[in-house]
Amino acid sequence: MSPSTRIVVIGGGIVAASVAYHLARQGVQVVTVEADLPGPATSAGAGIICPWTEPGDDADSYYRLSADGARYYPQLLAMLADDGQPETSYARVGTLCVAADERPLAAIAATLRARLRWRPEIGEVELVGAGEPQRRFPPLSPGLAGIWISGGARIDGRSIRDSLLRAATARGASRIVGTAVLDHRGGGVTGVRVTGVRVTGGTGGTGVLGAGERISADAVVVAAGAWTAQVCAEIGWQLPIGPQRGQILHVELPGAATESWPVILPPDDPYLLGFPAGRVVLGATREDNAGFEYRVTVGGVGAMLAAAAGIAPGLSEATLVETRVGFRPVTKDGRPLIGRLADGVFVAAGNGPEGLTAGPWTGAAAAALVLGERPPADLAPFDPARFR
Ligand SMILES: Cc1cc2nc3c(=O)[nH]c(=O)nc-3n(C[C@H](O)[C@H](O)[C@H](O)COP(=O)(O)OP(=O)(O)OC[C@H]3O[C@@H](n4cnc5c(N)ncnc54)[C@H](O)[C@@H]3O)c2cc1C
Repeated sequence: MSPSTRIVVIGGGIVAASVAYHLARQGVQVVTVEADLPGPATSAGAGIICPWTEPGDDADSYYRLSADGARYYPQLLAMLADDGQPETSYARVGTLCVAADERPLAAIAATLRARLRWRPEIGEVELVGAGEPQRRFPPLSPGLAGIWISGGARIDGRSIRDSLLRAATARGASRIVGTAVLDHRGGGVTGVRVTGVRVTGGTGGTGVLGAGERISADAVVVAAGAWTAQVCAEIGWQLPIGPQRGQILHVELPGAATESWPVILPPDDPYLLGFPAGRVVLGATREDNAGFEYRVTVGGVGAMLAAAAGIAPGLSEATLVETRVGFRPVTKDGRPLIGRLADGVFVAAGNGPEGLTAGPWTGAAAAALVLGERPPADLAPFDPARFR
């Protein structure tokens, strides 16, 4: 592709930001269009990067994508630092899978050790006895034992998305706030029409576009998360992707050294993780029938607080500072959609509950596909043609 090639990326979450960044690195003109809808998953996501405890193996495409995504992070962070965007919210704080009963933990440890051969980034895997998890994450119940996984990490979704977008902008990408509709002629997509728009930065400069403004493009990438089906319906695709609502709580323990606390994964929710400045995140609900209702419910918050009180009684005096709501983009078969839909249009969406882990890698793979390069991974299992 030549430097005059223009590619429009629809979406403003981690996947769109990553597609934009990887394309801008290759010197093509990139325009991102972001509708700024309530409830993007990236803004609500907890930030756990520890895919190795999930079921599946390297032959399982969803697990492989997440595990590749976790592996890619250090390389991506080095690239961003080279581009003047050091990302500081990523930390390899380790993970503790905890349980009151040590027997299931031994089975998980065996699985992790078997995976180490292919995934050395898992790091140390060590069974720790009752009381040790509480020593490392003080609000926990003293009766819990655990498995320590040193490669576990956490990241702030908003922060990595913004770093990717800033790095893309520094390489000439421009950004439009507005709702994109695919523009198509003769069976192919030729650009987008955008309503409610404002251009910010990049080679396009800054200014206001008229409503319904047409932006022509050599290719469009739809990375609109849970809203991807609506966007693609315009060209006759009925993609089975939609929202799974997640409500997630942020609490504060002033003075606690939360930034170095490990990620806590109990057999059932809530998981717990620490961020700087005394912040602890606990979550999250998984609601498949709430549609795009952007609201906090008594049942959702109540259930999480009750479960948190059981495993982490030390949080009872924490201040409840924020509840976030986000829509995980989930597909009917649980696998993301990464591939070509028609002439001039590609899709990259549907990372479900692990999009902060797999999102940057998904974006890199989609960018390669758009550029006609060999993708860094086998994308056949994610081809949207399986739903045609
Ligand atoms: C509560 C919760 C906890 C989570 N925890 C984790 C975790 O610990 N680890 C992990 O790996 N993952 C986690 N996830 C999953 C992860 O957050 C998502 O998979 C990921 O953020 C999806 O990113 P995305 O870019 O595909 O979608 P989104 O972030 O949802 O972005 C989609 C964007 O598209 C825009 N858009 C939609 N329609 C249009 C249009 N027509 N024109 C222009 N723009 C449009 C929207 O405004 C939105 O900004 C969690 C998710 C939730 C909700």
